Amino acid sequence: MLPLDIYNQLKHKEIIIYDIDNTLIDVSKRYMKSIEESGIDPHTNIRRIPPKERAKFWKIFLSNKYLHLDKPNMGEIENLMKKYNEGYGIILLTGRPETLRKDTIKQLEKFGIKYHALIMRPKNNREPDKYYKTKLIKEMINYGLKIIEYHEDDPATIDVIKKNFPDIKVIKHNLANEKLIFHDD
Ligand SMILES: [Mg+2]
Repeated sequence: MLPLDIYNQLKHKEIIIYDIDNTLIDVSKRYMKSIEESGIDPHTNIRRIPPKERAKFWKIFLSNKYLHLDKPNMGEIENLMKKYNEGYGIILLTGRPETLRKDTIKQLEKFGIKYHALIMRPKNNREPDKYYKTKLIKEMINYGLKIIEYHEDDPATIDVIKKNFPDIKVIKHNLANEKLIFHDD
């Protein structure tokens, strides 16, 4: 859960939550490189990718190997910065694992993204994003945080968040032109 000092900093603010990959950051180059390297034909139906190749893809994609290929989504980053400067609480909620924390912080700094908290997937957690993120949002609400807006690209996660939290305004993003293998809806 959020450390107590961050909770105290955020409890009087209206909170906006942002996903990172494909919402604030364009990951398409890292995605394609990881697909290539794991031996997946990019034109394969995503449901037909054997588990071994799929696991290999995730290992490469969620490492720092091709992180340098990511590009900032400047339009949305400007919107975020405006909200940050207006006094909203900004929480980044990502499926990226804790092992990528240092590299992620560096990347966010490079792209000029400011935030109050960065929540990453704990080691060995393999829950689908839609459940993992829903659980964390529930925790934050139970903790007393006032979440007003949520930004996300994954269609399945968007559906579940909308169903569970009708008071949160959900904003859909899509930097990818086509369905990605982690768009598991
Ligand atoms: Mg995403």
